[in-house]
Amino acid sequence: MAVASLASALRVPSAFAETRKIGYAIVGLGYYATKQIMPNFAECEHSRLVALVSGSPSKLEQYGAQYGIPKTHRYSYADFDRIRDNPDIDVVYVVLPNSLHAEYTVRAARAGKHVMCEKPMATSVAECQAMIAACRQAGTKLMIGYRSRFEPYNRLAIELAHGGHVGPTRLITAEHGFSIQPNQWRLNRAMSGGGSMMDIGIYSLNAARYLTGEEPVEVSAVESTDHADPRFREVEDRVSFILRFPSGVQANCISSYSSAHNGYRVNGTQGWIALEPATSYAGQAMTINRDGITAPRTLPAPARNQFAAQLDHLAECILTGASPIVAGEEGLADMRLIEAIYRSAAERRSVALKELG
Ligand code: NAD
Repeated sequence: MAVASLASALRVPSAFAETRKIGYAIVGLGYYATKQIMPNFAECEHSRLVALVSGSPSKLEQYGAQYGIPKTHRYSYADFDRIRDNPDIDVVYVVLPNSLHAEYTVRAARAGKHVMCEKPMATSVAECQAMIAACRQAGTKLMIGYRSRFEPYNRLAIELAHGGHVGPTRLITAEHGFSIQPNQWRLNRAMSGGGSMMDIGIYSLNAARYLTGEEPVEVSAVESTDHADPRFREVEDRVSFILRFPSGVQANCISSYSSAHNGYRVNGTQGWIALEPATSYAGQAMTINRDGITAPRTLPAPARNQFAAQLDHLAECILTGASPIVAGEEGLADMRLIEAIYRSAAERRSVALKELG
């Protein structure tokens, strides 16, 4: 097959290979940025790390030296808006505490930059809407860091569930949680916007939505928090929530800051698809039960891991003009549901999404 027709069969523009790599500035040099994101630029095809933003001069020095980022491409938070004048920066990746996502996304858009923003997108629906509006006005792309959408087992689970591999889906169970360490911003409501639901329960919620491909019409939630535990003075610990989807599918979900969970199961009329761990950084394990036979399902290692594939997806969207599969609207949809879940738990009743307008 000729090169041009092969490229078109792969739906990649033929000029793609010659295109320069998309430059990322990372904002916030904490755990996730430095341990998971920055090392994975090495696996990227279309993305490269070109700038750093931090309040810590010593981190700028350390990571600047490690990744070969010149001093001209290192910024403090006060300096941040000067990124406008740096043509090497195409994308700003916001990896800050949740309460700062909206501010830095809006400032990045005003500087004319595309934005990758970590989950949860922000701390309220109103902030998510402002972020989407700012990027729309600037004509820049906005993507949310839902990395599981770039992880092969999750992609297979979606394909199998949507294709009816174990019959039509009837019930989804999704559980995410860990035992949180004290003294951190995640436990400070002003910084986090909420407790386990914002941080880890969002994986159960997002999975229920991507596994069904539907939007819930009703939620009901129960919260269990021991406020005498010093970790939970301000934010919730456990939330059990049920999502009802238009097709009749139900998702029973768990979010926890005091017990370890990471898995989901799609139960169809002829069997089930289980992934546990499901949304971890690595090590996903899939089991399928179909027509009474249970067997593991393994996939070959991908060319790019989920972190690199996520970075490259936004780069590819910028290069081709496509929209990210997890754009700002995806983060907004989860935030609307989280607000509905909180309302359901507080008012001890089911909440219909149409009530929220
Ligand atoms: P972290 O605490 O390790 O890092 C946060 C960084 O923000 C730190 O470097 C800190 O110095 C900086 N910062 C700037 N202003 C701050 C302020 N006013 N208060 C506190 N810190 C401030 O947190 P993290 O685990 O890296 O999480 C950062 C974001 O990434 C969060 O939104 C989190 O939900 C998200 N995250 C996503 C994943 C994922 O798998 N997608 C995993 C972990 C974290």
